[in-house]
Amino acid sequence: KESRAMKFQRQHMDPDGPSNNSNYCNQMMRRRLMTEGRCKPVNTFVHEPLVDVQAVCLQRNITCKNGQPNCHKSSSSMKITDCRVTSGSKYPNCDYRTSQKERHIIVACEGNPYVPVHFDASV
Ligand code: ADP
Repeated sequence: KESRAMKFQRQHMDPDGPSNNSNYCNQMMRRRLMTEGRCKPVNTFVHEPLVDVQAVCLQRNITCKNGQPNCHKSSSSMKITDCRVTSGSKYPNCDYRTSQKERHIIVACEGNPYVPVHFDASV
């Protein structure tokens, strides 16, 4: 079974990206299996080395959107791509808007080793 840490990597890590094209989210949301059963409404990909994203778990601790205490904010801004399903998108034809940004990321971490398991926000 896929661990939460592996699921985070599948859903949120793309160190070698982004390909600079407006179809990025349409392709990646499908390739990373987030368009199975439904179109996942919003999702962020991070374009930084895995070790740098894992290191965020050692950076500033903050409260998550859901009130849990296990979120961490990156000390540096990171290259990210936000994917948001368009209003006209109809499953199984999931259609996304692609927006590239540089933001501090906030991730929830769990386990031993203490690694990212959820992408909470970017600021
Ligand atoms: P994401 O939220 O990164 O888009 P999922 O919703 O598929 O991805 O999975 C998030 C996972 O992280 C779930 O297994 C959830 O239980 C876990 N988790 C751990 N801490 C938190 C937290 N503070 N907020 C939300 N999810 C969390």
